[in-house]
Amino acid sequence: MFGQVELLPADPILGLIEAFNRDTNPNKIDLGVGVYRDAQGNTPILQAVKEAEALLLTREKTKSYIGSHGDPAFGQQLLPLVLGQDSAVLQASRATLTQAPGGTGALRLAADFIHRCAPGKKVWISDPTWPNHYAIFNAAGVEYASYRYVDSNTNRLDFPAMLADLQQIPEGDVVLLHACCHNPTGFDLSLEQWQQVLEILKARKLLPLIDFAYQGFGAGLEEDAAAVRLLAEQLPEVMITASCSKNFGLYRERIGAFIAVAANRNDMEKVRSQLAVVARSNYSNPPAHGSAIVATILANPELNGLWRREVDDMRNRINTLRQQFVDALKPFGLAEKFACVAEQRGMFSYSGLKPEEVQKLQQEFGIYMVKTGRMNIAGYSEQNLQYLCKAIASVCGK
Ligand code: PMP
Repeated sequence: MFGQVELLPADPILGLIEAFNRDTNPNKIDLGVGVYRDAQGNTPILQAVKEAEALLLTREKTKSYIGSHGDPAFGQQLLPLVLGQDSAVLQASRATLTQAPGGTGALRLAADFIHRCAPGKKVWISDPTWPNHYAIFNAAGVEYASYRYVDSNTNRLDFPAMLADLQQIPEGDVVLLHACCHNPTGFDLSLEQWQQVLEILKARKLLPLIDFAYQGFGAGLEEDAAAVRLLAEQLPEVMITASCSKNFGLYRERIGAFIAVAANRNDMEKVRSQLAVVARSNYSNPPAHGSAIVATILANPELNGLWRREVDDMRNRINTLRQQFVDALKPFGLAEKFACVAEQRGMFSYSGLKPEEVQKLQQEFGIYMVKTGRMNIAGYSEQNLQYLCKAIASVCGK
């Protein structure tokens, strides 16, 4: 039977990693993979995580199953982090959280839930988006379509086009929104723009599915949650998928959550019961180590403070690198062309570089990024910024 199986091409990012590893250029730079890197090019374990793990080593008493919804202590801590300490939704017991293996796992729970409980509903996704969104909805058998997000001529957010497209979505469908740090573009909506999106969601009775993978990486842990909280407070029903991969640096521990805000407690319990079944048929119980770390950090005032400072440091470093990039391109007359990089937020930038420029950067300079021109901002450092900018100037004919 295996002889009949079709050979699939490698994932473009994996192909990029392999090509990068093979490259012997001593100055090579990897701007492809979506992980945070410090000034030394490492993806460090946060100090708060190390300390929480040391505590867990002495406290942990069992490796028994934690249940389909995961660790209740994790849920209790994560809900207020996402929805706010004084959330009216939490006070009214309208929210339910199911722990998931990463933000990806949470999205798969959302997709399976839609397939199971709202068959026929389409999911509307920004164009462009994180490519795994398509793969996840495909795998779950959920239909999807796109709404416009970026003007490819100017490489800027095209908000009027986004609004126009949202207004055309059939009543009751699901809209996938990036809460902050839009991947791949880095273009986020202002609070005023979110208000306008909210009005359309209300008017057309659309159900938002908010992908919240970068809390703390844009403007701050509280600031980045503004849109999530606005929609959760103003709409009867909202779905949120949170990830702790980036803000806790727990990529390989696979920790995230699916959150549903329902119109009332009764509906919330119904949704919760469905999620338990969806989780069970996927993987039964989620892994426990990541949730134990997150719950320990958030519940401990000292570790919580340390973690918040570490998130601030990661975010400030990324935002400084953004500004330094634009400044370093000034002498080449390219500061204006790339000004958007300093305005965008999160780990990624849609640089506006064309596929042929991206290819030249790779072949001539050992600088690797996705064909679309998406760069991981944390992929370069103060040390190789000049090399990167000279290379970009060269492929841009400067
Ligand atoms: N959503 C978006 C937009 C992402 O960029 C990512 C990570 N690249 C995820 C979800 C999922 O992250 P993870 O599964 O690693 O938690």
